[in-house]
Amino acid sequence: TALFNGTVAVNTGLFINGQWLNSLNGDVIVVINPADGETLTEVAAGNAADIDLAVQAAKRAFKTVWGLKTPGHERGRLLCKLADLIEKNHDSIAAIEALDAGKHFNDVRRIDVQNSIYLFRYYAGWADKNHGKTIETSGAKFAYTRHEPIGVVGLISPWNYPLVLACGKLAPALAAGNTVVLKPPEVTPLSALMLAALVKEAGFPDGVVNIVTGYGSTAGQALIAHHDVGKISFTGSTPVGRKIMETSAKTNLKRLTLELGGKNAVIIFDDADLEQALKWTVMGVFGQVCAASSRVFVQEGIYDAFMERFVAAVNSMRLGDGFRADVDQGPVVSQEHLDRVLNYIESGKREGARLVTGGTRAGGSGFFIKPTIFTDVRPEMKIVRDEIFGPVGVVAKFKTEEEAIEFANDTFYGLTGYFFTQDLNRAIRVSNALEVGSVYVNSTLFNAPQVPFGGFKQSGQGKELGEHALETFTQVKAVHINL
Ligand code: NAD
Repeated sequence: TALFNGTVAVNTGLFINGQWLNSLNGDVIVVINPADGETLTEVAAGNAADIDLAVQAAKRAFKTVWGLKTPGHERGRLLCKLADLIEKNHDSIAAIEALDAGKHFNDVRRIDVQNSIYLFRYYAGWADKNHGKTIETSGAKFAYTRHEPIGVVGLISPWNYPLVLACGKLAPALAAGNTVVLKPPEVTPLSALMLAALVKEAGFPDGVVNIVTGYGSTAGQALIAHHDVGKISFTGSTPVGRKIMETSAKTNLKRLTLELGGKNAVIIFDDADLEQALKWTVMGVFGQVCAASSRVFVQEGIYDAFMERFVAAVNSMRLGDGFRADVDQGPVVSQEHLDRVLNYIESGKREGARLVTGGTRAGGSGFFIKPTIFTDVRPEMKIVRDEIFGPVGVVAKFKTEEEAIEFANDTFYGLTGYFFTQDLNRAIRVSNALEVGSVYVNSTLFNAPQVPFGGFKQSGQGKELGEHALETFTQVKAVHINL
């Protein structure tokens, strides 16, 4: 157990079959605070043997105490209990998440923890309503469908929203009656470990939820290759998503939900409300967010006015530790990620883009990068094509609506799209034309647990959130009756 701020205790072992264990070979992961580069603690690094233990526990629990053995209302009751416990520990969880991921404490409180609570309550409501249908066929024959759980499902989550993205998988998976093995991100494992303690306190039967911290290449790989895992729900990068599909194809054809990367566009039309467009664009471009609006397209009539105020707003952003109230942007998550983002900035300069602001590291020992804007970009540049996943935005000017749509769709990603206009006809026309899973008119990203989220093209497969996520954790059985 590690103690933070003298008060918040986090168990640092593997949570398997309701018990806290060390990794079988004793490996650990060193967890770093990205705001100062200092070590926070060490957690167990699970490997293939630990994953197998967790999968076997989940398999037993599925057959004996969960799955079809527990009525939906009882699963719902436990999910509600877990939501209540997260609420009770709201500030401690937010503090740990902010410390581990370098996020702003108030944002984590207000958004991540709040949405995590809501997710468990939302899916608790579904747990006893995931019904099938009766279908009349002919004469004395009819059929009915059952929405059955898949069995053991593997959940793999990334470091940018460690808690809420894990909860977005756990809640529907459990509501539908599956047992789970969650592998949290190695860079930010702490909030998942806090959640494990609350799962225990809520009274879930042992083995229903197992949480195995570990590296992607070992624990993650073992989970995606395991023959007793029926489904993987993954959020992370497109290259790892590709690997998961390959491994699934070579093992047991697991069902897959893949929430992958994005290189999303925000379009600001001449008729936009400039204040709104500025406010949301400043918020949307620079985060370590799959849905970051990192390509900004501005119509020529509004371009100069927008850019002048956009650059001024970005220059006034304050960098620093997420526990300070006067901070707008925290650090990037790790030294490795810092180097990666700085390399992209260098490649932008080399390829001839114009660096308007930012472009350098900031502060002392933490992993801070000044919010960075490039203009004069061409479609083939790496900074325009690749997901950078850091505080770097590119801006280009366009003439017509058709041109804006063409620019926005010129990517193999298709996660989200944003635009600002006051024209209702244009709002519907452009929403239909964007090749993305989620469109936001007159805002950048916000999410609601009851609305499906998931990418087109190489941004993923399947949906999370809403009723759609429940379906992805369910298999439909048709039973034919001949009376
Ligand atoms: P990542 O793909 O490197 O890692 C994600 C998770 O996969 C981690 O838990 C990691 O340990 C694990 N992993 C890595 N290699 C693995 C392997 N071979 N087998 C199994 N598991 C493996 O991604 P990241 O750097 O943690 O997160 C950033 C990426 O996540 C970005 O591309 C971002 O766009 C994406 N993301 C997508 C969404 C979405 O909803 N579409 C949301 C957040 C983040």
